[in-house]
Amino acid sequence: VKRSKISGRPEAYQIQQFDIAREQFGMETALRRAIENGMMRLTYQPICDLATGRIVAFESLARWTDEDGRAHSPNDFIPVAEESGLIVPLGRWAIDEAATTLAGWDTRFGGDCGVKLAVNLSAIQLQRDRIPILVERALSANGLDGRRFTLELTESALVTDPDRIAAIMHALKGLGTTIAMDDFGTGYSNLAYLQKLPIDVLKIDRSFITGMLADRDKVSIVRAILSLASALGMKTTAEGIETNELAQTLAALGCTYGQGYSFARPLEADAAYTYLLATNH
Ligand code: C2E
Ligand code: MG
Ligand code: MG
Ligand code: MG
Repeated sequence: VKRSKISGRPEAYQIQQFDIAREQFGMETALRRAIENGMMRLTYQPICDLATGRIVAFESLARWTDEDGRAHSPNDFIPVAEESGLIVPLGRWAIDEAATTLAGWDTRFGGDCGVKLAVNLSAIQLQRDRIPILVERALSANGLDGRRFTLELTESALVTDPDRIAAIMHALKGLGTTIAMDDFGTGYSNLAYLQKLPIDVLKIDRSFITGMLADRDKVSIVRAILSLASALGMKTTAEGIETNELAQTLAALGCTYGQGYSFARPLEADAAYTYLLATNH
C-alpha cells in the first residue's frame, strides 16, 4: 500500500476523503438551489392506532429529486443540510408546507379531517431557529389548532443544551402540540430527562422492530420500552412495521400506534388524503 507522506494513511484513503468532501459540497450547492427554487416535497406516511387500525396521524417526510432526476434520501441530504445551515430554511419550509397540506385536507373534508400531522425537527434546527414562533405562525396562518401538530425530536437534541430544549418543548406544549421522541432507544443514555420533559409519545426505533419476531432480545427491549412508557404515562409508536404479524404482536404487547410499510409507504399529499378517506371512513 502506498502511504501518504503527510498523514501516513494509505493514499487511496485520502483521495476518498477528498471525494467525499467534494461530493458533499456539490450536494450542498444543489440542495441550496432546490430549496430556493421550491423543488423540495413532503410525503406523508400514516401512523395507525394498532388496536383499531384507524389512522391517527401522518408523518411528513422530506423528499428531494435533483435536476438530473436523481432522488436523494433524507438520510444523505439532512446531514448535509445540518452541516451547512440549510436545515434552517428547509425546516421553515417543512413546517409551513405541512400546515398548508393539513389545512388543504380539512378544506376537502369540510372540517377537521381527524388526523394530526407530525413534523421532524433536527437538533441543529432547534439550536439555530425559533421553532415555537414558526410553528405558532404556521398554525394560525392556516387556521389550525395546535392539537393538530406533532413535533418529532430525537434524543440528540437534548445533548448540547438540555435547558434550552426543555424551554422550547414547554413552549410547543403551550401551543397544544404533541411531542414525540423519535428513534427512541438509539441515542442519549441518561433516562432522567424522560421524567422532566413534556414528552407525549416514544417512537421505538425501527432497529428494534425489524426482525423482532425472530429475536428474543429485541422483544425484551421493546417490552422494556413499552413498560417504561406506560409507567411514565406516555404513548408509544413502533416504527418500521413491515408485516401484519408484527402489527398484531405489537398490538398484543400494548404498543399504542404503528407506522410502516405494512400500513403504507410515505405517500404524496393527494394519495395520503385518498388513503385516509378509504381507511377511516
Ligand atoms: P424518521 O423520522 O425516523 O422517519 C422514519 C423513516 O423510516 C422514514 O425514512 C420512513 O420512510 C422510513 N420507514 C417507514 N416505515 C418503514 C418500514 O416499514 N420499513 C423501512 N425500512 N423504513 C420505513 P426517510 O423518509 O428516508 O427519512 C429518514 C430520516 O430523515 C427520518 O427518520 C428523519 O430523521 C429525517 N427526515 C426526513 N424528513 C425530514 C424533515 O422534513 N426534517 C428533518 N429534520 N428530518 C427529516
Ligand atoms: Mg420522525
Ligand atoms: Mg423515527
Ligand atoms: Mg428512525
